[in-house]
Amino acid sequence: MIIVLKPDATKKDLEQVKKKIVSLGYKPHVIHGKTRKVIGAVGDERGKFILQTLESLPGVEKVVPILSPYKLASKEVKPVKTKIRVAPGVVIGGDELVVIAGPCSIENEKMLIETARFVKEKGAKILRGGAFKPRTSPYSFQGLERKGLKYLARAREVVGIPVITEVMNPGDVEMIAEVADILQVGARNVQNFALLKKLGKVKKPVLLKRGMMTTITEFLMSAEYIISSGNPRVILCERGIRTFENATRNTLDISAVAVLAERTHLPVIVDPSHATGYSRYVPAMAKAAVAAGADGLMIEVHPEPESALSDGPQSLDFPSFEKMMEELVPFVRAAGRTFSLAR
Ligand code: PEP
Ligand code: MN
Repeated sequence: MIIVLKPDATKKDLEQVKKKIVSLGYKPHVIHGKTRKVIGAVGDERGKFILQTLESLPGVEKVVPILSPYKLASKEVKPVKTKIRVAPGVVIGGDELVVIAGPCSIENEKMLIETARFVKEKGAKILRGGAFKPRTSPYSFQGLERKGLKYLARAREVVGIPVITEVMNPGDVEMIAEVADILQVGARNVQNFALLKKLGKVKKPVLLKRGMMTTITEFLMSAEYIISSGNPRVILCERGIRTFENATRNTLDISAVAVLAERTHLPVIVDPSHATGYSRYVPAMAKAAVAAGADGLMIEVHPEPESALSDGPQSLDFPSFEKMMEELVPFVRAAGRTFSLAR
């Protein structure tokens, strides 16, 4: 249920309503709007109409049911788009289109720093790099793990760029949160509920990738796990879904960007690298994502894609990344967004 407070409700009124929600067995989540506060009361759906009694409390304007199955992620509770501040001057979900770029896997310190410097110079705002890798085959490169994290921390410091890396295991969340500015949940873990709940306890933003087999509703339910566990800073990432088409690695569900914009206040970014699987298709899909209203892009970039330890075929080399960033400018402008191509 949504408890809408009156514009002149006091702090005391708010506290009293929160207390009452808890005493009825529900969890209050306060959302601060421009003119008023609303409280999302979440819990057992079956007895929720008892919350209607809150209408008699001082400061309460009305109590209305939330119709979507995902409550806190829905636009019903928070019609205004969520802006997520990742680092000073880096906000996802604001006016600026944010590009996240870097290698699929961290392979060594030198390549990571070299890539970080390059992508930053060409306008990327966040460096990506996997240390713990979810690989389909147990015989494939599994990532440098802790050593990779160390290199990532170093690149962050030396180059001065915020970083994102994947967490696969609930037991690794704290360790990774010490280094990463954003924690990534990969497509394969989108319904790892133990991991999602754990990520609800960290004070860092989470980038949640859509699973290759999850519907948009299931995707939002996964976001709901993180938010309802205490972390409202969730960024959604469309990275392609599995269809009958095999000309591309996955099928980029570009319509998901529009559907998500209608249903959720959370920012949405698109990963055309995993969506297509081939570097030559990445720039076109990046433009499509911007045109559809994405808040950002996640692009795999490698100094030598032909010798990459993972996802080489879909990684842009330096010249193609630079070219793509330049070609994106008119699309970003047409979409009514800003783009600071650092020079
Ligand atoms: C990745 O970002 O390198 C990755 C493994 O992506 P996904 O989880 O979308 O497959
Ligand atoms: Mn990858």
